[in-house]
Amino acid sequence: MLIDSHCHLEYKGLVEDHAGVLERARAAGVGGFLSISTREREWKQVVATAERHGDIWASVGIHPHEADGHADLGEAALLAAAEHPRVIAIGETGLDYYYDHSDRGMQQALFRRHIAVARQTGLPLIVHTRDAEDDTAAILTDEMEQGAFPALIHCFTASADFGRKMLDLGLTISISGIVTFKNARDLQAVAAQVPEHRLLVETDAPFLAPVPHRGRVCEPSFVADTARFVANLRGTSAQALAEATTANFFKLFTKAAL
Ligand SMILES: [Zn+2]
Ligand SMILES: [Zn+2]
Repeated sequence: MLIDSHCHLEYKGLVEDHAGVLERARAAGVGGFLSISTREREWKQVVATAERHGDIWASVGIHPHEADGHADLGEAALLAAAEHPRVIAIGETGLDYYYDHSDRGMQQALFRRHIAVARQTGLPLIVHTRDAEDDTAAILTDEMEQGAFPALIHCFTASADFGRKMLDLGLTISISGIVTFKNARDLQAVAAQVPEHRLLVETDAPFLAPVPHRGRVCEPSFVADTARFVANLRGTSAQALAEATTANFFKLFTKAAL
C-alpha cells in the first residue's frame, strides 16, 4: 500500500470528480491521502472531505503564496482548526522566493506561527520551500533550538546540502513526481540517498504529473509511478519502497493512526 502524503483534492482538476480520482488511486494501490489546504477558506472543505472518507486526512495551513492575505491569522485560529480529529498536520507553510507572491517578511512571520502551532500540537509541519534555502534553514534551525517539532520538506527540489541540513535537524523528505523529469538529476541523487526511514512520496496533485503522464492533470494514482521510479533509483523493489514510506507516514503523522 502507498500513501500520497501531499495532494490538493479540493483544487480544480480533482474536486470535480472525487469518486473517480479516489477509485483510480485505490486501484493503483494508494490506501491513504493527505489533503493539503493552502488558505483559511479551504479548511472547512478539506476537513469535510476527510470526514467522509476513512483513508483521507486533512492539513490546515496557509501557503506562502497566500501569506499577504492572512496577515492577521494568528496561532489561535490554527490551533482551533487543528483540534479536529481528521486534521493530522500543519501546513503547507514555508517560503517561496521564486514567485514572491507575498511579502517575504510576511511569509516568514506566518511560517513561524505555523511552527509554534506544530510545536504545541505535536502535529507535523509541512514545509514548502522554493529558492529560499538559506532563510528556510535559518528559521527551522532557530525554531528547533527553541523546542523540537516534527516536520517534513514536501516536494523536495533543493540542494543536497540543504537536504543534509534538514536530515540533521530531524526532518523527513518527501519526493514528488519532479524526480521523474529528465532534467532532475540532482533531485534523483538526493532521492537515492535519503535514509529509508526519512523518506515519503507524494504527488502534489493536481500539479506536477510524473512521467509518463506529463501534460495531464496530476492525480493521486500517479504516486505509484513516482514510487516505482524512486525504488528503481534506490535499487529496491516498488513493494519494499511502498511498505517503508507507508510505515514512515504513520510514524510521522501519529494522529492518522487513531
Ligand atoms: Zn508546496
Ligand atoms: Zn502543495
